[in-house]
Amino acid sequence: MKIHLLVCLLLLALFTACKQETPTPASPDPKADPHSFAQPNLAVAKHLDLSLKVDFDQKTLSGTAAWTIENPGKASEIIFDTDNLDIQKITLGKEAKEAKFHLVAPDSVLGSALRVAIEPTTDLVTIHYATRSDAAALGWMEPSMTVGKKLPFLFTQGQAILTRSWIPCQDSPGNRITYNANIEVPTGMMAVMSAENPQQISPDGKYSFKMDLPIAPYLIALAVGDIAFKPISGRTGVYAEPVMLEKVAWEFADMEKMVVAAESLYGPYAWGRFDVIVLPTGFPFGGMENPKLTFATPTVIAGDRSLVSLVAHELAHSWSGNLVTNATWADFWLNEGFTVYFERRIMEALYGWDFAEMQDELEYHELLAEMEDLDSSDTQLKIDLIGRSPDDGSSMVPYQKGSMFLRMLEQKTDRGKWDAFLKSWFETNKFTSKTTEDFLAFLQKNYLDKYQVTANVEEWVYKPGIPANCPVPQSGKLAAAKKAADNIANGFPDTNNWTPQEWVHFIRSLPENAEVATFKKLDEKFHLTQSTNAQIQLAWYEVSIRHGYVTEILPQVEDYLVKVGRRYLVLAVYRALKETGHVEDARRIFAKAKPGYHAVSWGSVEELLK
Ligand SMILES: [Zn+2]
Repeated sequence: MKIHLLVCLLLLALFTACKQETPTPASPDPKADPHSFAQPNLAVAKHLDLSLKVDFDQKTLSGTAAWTIENPGKASEIIFDTDNLDIQKITLGKEAKEAKFHLVAPDSVLGSALRVAIEPTTDLVTIHYATRSDAAALGWMEPSMTVGKKLPFLFTQGQAILTRSWIPCQDSPGNRITYNANIEVPTGMMAVMSAENPQQISPDGKYSFKMDLPIAPYLIALAVGDIAFKPISGRTGVYAEPVMLEKVAWEFADMEKMVVAAESLYGPYAWGRFDVIVLPTGFPFGGMENPKLTFATPTVIAGDRSLVSLVAHELAHSWSGNLVTNATWADFWLNEGFTVYFERRIMEALYGWDFAEMQDELEYHELLAEMEDLDSSDTQLKIDLIGRSPDDGSSMVPYQKGSMFLRMLEQKTDRGKWDAFLKSWFETNKFTSKTTEDFLAFLQKNYLDKYQVTANVEEWVYKPGIPANCPVPQSGKLAAAKKAADNIANGFPDTNNWTPQEWVHFIRSLPENAEVATFKKLDEKFHLTQSTNAQIQLAWYEVSIRHGYVTEILPQVEDYLVKVGRRYLVLAVYRALKETGHVEDARRIFAKAKPGYHAVSWGSVEELLK
């Protein structure tokens, strides 16, 4: 809280010192994105030339963001989104004429509007700035938080509205931009971006990047560290710390097969290369679909290729999300529901129906469980986010309910017709951003009317809960695992060849009245506390704690919480500790783990444990 106040005061002081005049405000666009101050209908930033120096000691990026703009309506100002940036100077045109600007007092969710006075002919706005050490998008990892322990590591996370905390930009997913970047890093380190990437370390620490396909600003991404590259196929490969590189390459050996499967479903891969970088454990998410270069958590490197659906998911975003993008964050299900559906189809193509169905059913159960805790209006596919953080909409609903909606529609005809329809959606709308209503109109005309079928579309999209015609995934293997859990009092099951998915379902299905002794015996036989599969660890630790099997496993739980930084994997374990009277243990472990967590993770845990 103090940091925020200090920042406000600094910004205020900076602004007062410059004695800038406020340019005349532009008239608002009624269709504007509620999570962006920019008014791109008046003056729009189209192309970014970014030039930044990475300083690991100060934990800052500093340099310039030069925006090529269009101003057809001859507006007298252009508005950018910023959050916690130190804006030093702004110039107009190649002649670098100094501009007047006004950094508006920050909103706690949206950051500060940066209003820059421009001339009718201005085509270039160059912003000289630096980030602050607590910039929300930047994950600064100390060497001790990496696997190699040699060099520090930096990664960015732009989604949903964090790009504005490291680049002043018109930060709406409805806005598409291209970019070039020059990034200078300490020698011996590699920099990679959501762009054409190097495969070797540059001896002088200087790297140049180009992204010439139009992307939403949340997809601008940068990672810097002790990074090496290994190809998987001609157009796919992996980046990771050198000590992990071989393991990562083995885990993701099927990347090319995934791209081939995806292309055969929904058309050509548009982005050239598809590479994945595995980040340090502090990365708070599973994966982030940055174009050309997916960012991934190390927790999917299970050593048995059991968690590679994450790569299929991020690859699917190359169509749903990156090629056709949600126009606002209220349309987030267009990104995620499509992607979960598409991920399932890729998994099915590679590993068969049974495996895909198993995954789907597990996530369906997660959806039902999470929905119990949500306000009913947040269980609609399109939700109202006005005045709220876009992250409030990031539940399992847009993901799994969205995917179920598409599966329901698929079953109205057959896969031939449905796949042709989806392919035409991507082809017709590539490199554009779409609203829910755009999709529903397209669906009506090109699918429902065309094949003369009806569907309760309004109910699925605008009403809470799960409609009665939801296709419920049913996996025979999971049913067997549940039966084994139901019968645990009568003895242990034969778990030979169980996948991690079966283990997770077995653990989560253990009876509510199962005794601590049962957990002890299960642990003695199957060594679940010692598992190295993060999904099994999450389920086992959470369920064990809730059944009172805590003291015995607490050292391993602590080790897990300190080593794993992914929000989804740690939050439920902290919650289980808190809700079973172990909040002091939870706080003690969190104090130790926090320096290794990204703000996205520690913010959520701190909120839980306060
Ligand atoms: Zn996703």
